[in-house]
Amino acid sequence: MKKYLLFTPGPVNVAKNVRMAIGKEDICHRETDFDCLLESIENKLLRLFEIRNIADYRAVVITGSGTAANESILSSVVGDKNILILSNGEFGERLYNISKIHNKNTFLLKFDWGKSLNLKKIESYLKKHKIDIVAMVHHETSSGMLNSLEKVGALSKANGAMFIVDCVSSAGAEIIDMEKCHIAFCSSSSSKAIGSYSGLSFVIGAKKEFEKLKFLPVKSTYLNLYKFYHFIKTISQTPNTPAVPLFFALEQALINILKRGVSNRHSDIKHKANLLRQGMLKSGLKFLIAQKDMCSVLTTIHIPSHIDVDFFRHKLREKSIIIYEGKGPYKGKVFQVGNIGELSFAEINYFLDSQAEILRSLAPIEIIKPKLVYSANNLISNIKNKIKDACPVPVPNV
Ligand SMILES: *Cc1c(COP(=O)(O)O)cnc(C)c1O
Repeated sequence: MKKYLLFTPGPVNVAKNVRMAIGKEDICHRETDFDCLLESIENKLLRLFEIRNIADYRAVVITGSGTAANESILSSVVGDKNILILSNGEFGERLYNISKIHNKNTFLLKFDWGKSLNLKKIESYLKKHKIDIVAMVHHETSSGMLNSLEKVGALSKANGAMFIVDCVSSAGAEIIDMEKCHIAFCSSSSSKAIGSYSGLSFVIGAKKEFEKLKFLPVKSTYLNLYKFYHFIKTISQTPNTPAVPLFFALEQALINILKRGVSNRHSDIKHKANLLRQGMLKSGLKFLIAQKDMCSVLTTIHIPSHIDVDFFRHKLREKSIIIYEGKGPYKGKVFQVGNIGELSFAEINYFLDSQAEILRSLAPIEIIKPKLVYSANNLISNIKNKIKDACPVPVPNV
């Protein structure tokens, strides 16, 4: 099968030892082997998040992609209290849609996609309304914007609200200081910046907050967060059958990060993002948001107006390169290039060379009349229209 270079924000190209780990021995998840595996993963997750008071936090692992972790938090921590979702993109809206299903008192403070969360508006909303829980996305993957945890965390605390965060696309790449930012629970998944296969997610939370969940109504069986906590606390297992091979792979991916060192890991990813961004600017491309607001895992780029995004992606795919398209209001207008996973510097250069070559081949060229400028990919339809204009009879389809 063809090997693709995944320049996406997940799934990612996994390291060789992660690929090997998935095929380890067959073990039973009700035996000590699995207890030890889960303990090892939990310990490594808390180290990845650089938790200082490690005895005050726990991490539970869920079989299911990032949305499973988000849904487990949203269905387990609200009860009949009021939750406010802050949104400035696709993934903020998803949190709102999940919460609405489980919690009748779900409120939304919506900001434009690609714009920063407005702290003044958040503050005045929290002052005016009784909000018990505030939820937001750290890295809003749809635009590439990194939202500030510290400021919203401080505002939540000042207004007596619990703070929960979707860190699915930032964990493993950005610094997340749960203690400093007053985060009660945060979620992430195995397949983005952590660099393993998709299919596992996790929730890290303060022990005292996990304990409180015991008294709240159960709104989901499979995704009951208290149950995950209770199982790991009492028997170091998961409530239901876990995808064991994925746990082996996740453990290896975490070993890889910790071996390199968390802060080296952050700078490695940032360095790759910077290389890509410099190359893109050289090709004359323009970014959707300012570089200072971007997360280090991906870049969102305006597609030049004479190029069709799908055609552009197709040309890259022919060179074994996979990129993302835009979502929602960005559909057809932007493309996204990730820089996580096992992408070497040679592969980053290969991407930049391929991109430059494709852009050159699609550059606007002048034909027929010197004043009219056509791009290669709408050339044929333009010529057909010209013939149509000049011909009294219908043009046959070609
Ligand atoms: C990818 C992602 C998710 C989860 O999506 P899944 O398809 O369930 O993996 C949630 N939030 C953010 C910000 C994401 O980038």
